[in-house]
Amino acid sequence: MTLLSNKVINLPESATLKMARLARELKAEGKDVISLSLGEPDFDTPDHIKEAAIQALRDGYTKYTPVSGLPELVQAIVTKFKRDNGLEYDTNQIVVSNGAKQSIYNLSQALLNHGDEAIILAPYWVSYHDIIQMAGGVPVIVKADIDQDFKVTPEQLEAAITPKTKFVLFSSPCNPTGSVYLKEELEGLAAVIAQHDIVVISDEIYEYINFTDKHASIGTIESVKDKTVTVNGFAKGFAMTGWRLGYIGAPLWLAKACAKIQSQVTSGATSFGQKAGSVALTSDMTPTYKMRDAFMKRRELVIGLLKKIPGVKTNFPKGAFYIFPDMSAFFGKSANGFVVNNSDDLAEYLLKEGLVATVSGAAFGDPNCIRISYAASEEQLTEAVRRIGVALGALG
Ligand code: PMP
Ligand code: GLU
Repeated sequence: MTLLSNKVINLPESATLKMARLARELKAEGKDVISLSLGEPDFDTPDHIKEAAIQALRDGYTKYTPVSGLPELVQAIVTKFKRDNGLEYDTNQIVVSNGAKQSIYNLSQALLNHGDEAIILAPYWVSYHDIIQMAGGVPVIVKADIDQDFKVTPEQLEAAITPKTKFVLFSSPCNPTGSVYLKEELEGLAAVIAQHDIVVISDEIYEYINFTDKHASIGTIESVKDKTVTVNGFAKGFAMTGWRLGYIGAPLWLAKACAKIQSQVTSGATSFGQKAGSVALTSDMTPTYKMRDAFMKRRELVIGLLKKIPGVKTNFPKGAFYIFPDMSAFFGKSANGFVVNNSDDLAEYLLKEGLVATVSGAAFGDPNCIRISYAASEEQLTEAVRRIGVALGALG
């Protein structure tokens, strides 16, 4: 007999974190693995943000903060939403959490009864699916193919909504595809959402890593303004993954519910981290834009190299730091007794035979693809794609 709950027995380990762990383990065995598995900027947090946290510690910011966040950070978030996104949230509509991941967890717990449906626009970030299931919800996947630049149409969305639907969740710029929904595309989705008694959760954590189009927030569209939750965080734009700091702007009733959940779980985010977060949002954004420009250069590099490998089909990502190529041309092939039948097999093959860690697309709702994170140096990326090419070339 096991003492573990069915909930945890049925819960998979996060696929992104699992591949990062496998890569680390192989490295510890002395293998020269290049890890392109984790969505984590390889840059360090800018110095002025680190200094702000150190100063906050010196100034005695070592106590609990209000559950929804330090007033100074909450105000900085309200100002940021208005300044960068044209979004109008009041301070009481903001909830700061231990990462955007926890924000999405809080929202799922707040909105889902057992058996309620939550629509996820696919390809999607792996944890959406499992966070919804943990809350007792049923993930309903609405999938866009590579030929539609991985973007769901209003018709597809409409067809998936039922009386059990509670919310629609998506990211733009998107993890894992790098696709960016344009304002007019969001207007199409909003027109559908406005007709139903549902909420839309817009995950904009890659907002600042957008290479071409101006970032658009669905919450600025009048018809869905009062039913939009905007999720954001510090991990990507400010290279602050380890700080565990994210936030939402939400309808008041939902912000209150998330704060209540949080009051029972974490009591709020780390005090001195929040001080640093408010400095990040209110200071010069040059370090963020420099990182964005470096990611853009890497995108060109990796796309250029991948295009030279026969059988690899790519879209042209407009943001984030991922490429999500369709690798189905390699399914059914084998090398050295290793048979590749799907994206899980391919990710394992590339790791073990090619010594490059990627993540299987199946985890993101598209089993034809694999996800490559190009948050690594140009040198590592060049070598990694060379290895991928060699490993794929060996499949016959
Ligand atoms: N949303 C998306 C789309 C992500 O890729 C991630 C991964 N970092 C998160 C949310 C969670 O971010 P955080 O590190 O702030 O929890
Ligand atoms: N969001 C990043 C990723 O997709 C970080 C790891 C995680 O939280 O899943 O790889």
